[in-house]
Amino acid sequence: MSGAMRVRGTKRAPGRSRRWGWGIVLCWLGAAIAAAQERLELVWPTPSRAWAEGKPATEWLQHAGSGDPQSGAFGGVRSGGSQFHEGIDIRPVGRDRKGAPTDPVFAVLPGVVRHVAGAPSGGYGRYVVLEHPGVTPAVYSLYAHLASIAPGLRPGQTVAAGATLGLMGHSAGGYRIPPDRAHLHFEIGVMVTRDFQSWYERKKFGSRNEQGVWNGMNLLGLDPQALFEDWRARRITTLQDVFARQETVVRLRLATTRTPDFVTRYPSLLTKPLPLGPVSGWEIRFNWTGLPFAWTPLTGLETIGLAAGVPRIVEVNAEVERRQRSKSLAVQRGGEWTVGRDLEPVLQLLFGLR
Ligand SMILES: [Zn+2]
Repeated sequence: MSGAMRVRGTKRAPGRSRRWGWGIVLCWLGAAIAAAQERLELVWPTPSRAWAEGKPATEWLQHAGSGDPQSGAFGGVRSGGSQFHEGIDIRPVGRDRKGAPTDPVFAVLPGVVRHVAGAPSGGYGRYVVLEHPGVTPAVYSLYAHLASIAPGLRPGQTVAAGATLGLMGHSAGGYRIPPDRAHLHFEIGVMVTRDFQSWYERKKFGSRNEQGVWNGMNLLGLDPQALFEDWRARRITTLQDVFARQETVVRLRLATTRTPDFVTRYPSLLTKPLPLGPVSGWEIRFNWTGLPFAWTPLTGLETIGLAAGVPRIVEVNAEVERRQRSKSLAVQRGGEWTVGRDLEPVLQLLFGLR
């Protein structure tokens, strides 16, 4: 402040000083942009200090009823691995006299509000979804089971990292979370397709899709605990690093001229540029949770022998699949690998397959 005042008061060749001034501003902007691209800056989504202080996850994870904190972690952590948990459950650090959590819930990155479910519906209850166009890939983050939404929060608004999105709670649709197990269900990941509704209607679930494209069936989560820990330990500096670090569990090839909107929304997951004309097919690598993290467009030559629209599994890392107690991505039938029950809907959604 005082520096700026002094500059205004001193006599200088005005044109020159202005040029220098702009030069500095541009340098700073350039550096700021470069820095923003260089290192991810994450904010923990609740006021709990346990993660920041490096305490074990058991200090902040909320168990799902079993008493085992690990049941609040990401992955096949429930019902002996048969129930997959796409996020982490963080317990409150504050409660009012009636026992209701007083923890606000914060945006982990700067972003745009994409979905606000103000009335509890579906498994997420009352929830907020942000999208983060400032990072690559432009992941979403999701904050569920809220008691209330921050006043005035609307889709389309931009929010800063650390902005309050609502109050932690235990809202849910279709089942009940007891107040003593109130928590934030936090997710971060990618949306499978913008064309979710037509798949949903074909499936005839018998209920209306109230969540639009932000329905849990259309979202593929990354492990938020691993992401935060890798970021703190500087094993990753960008979100692209997170995707680059994924291990292949299933690699498959599919002959199709279709380029899924997933690829156009997350172009950094392409291993080489798209051809000028239509593609002839795709080779896709899936991680242990069935997330398609690497995409290679195939040429006509590379799709010879593949039936159009029929996925052919070319590699399975069954060891990783077993170790992670993951979803069923591939099953062996008559000596051949076929698409498992958890990978099937992802492929249907990506390619509009039936
Ligand atoms: Zn949860």
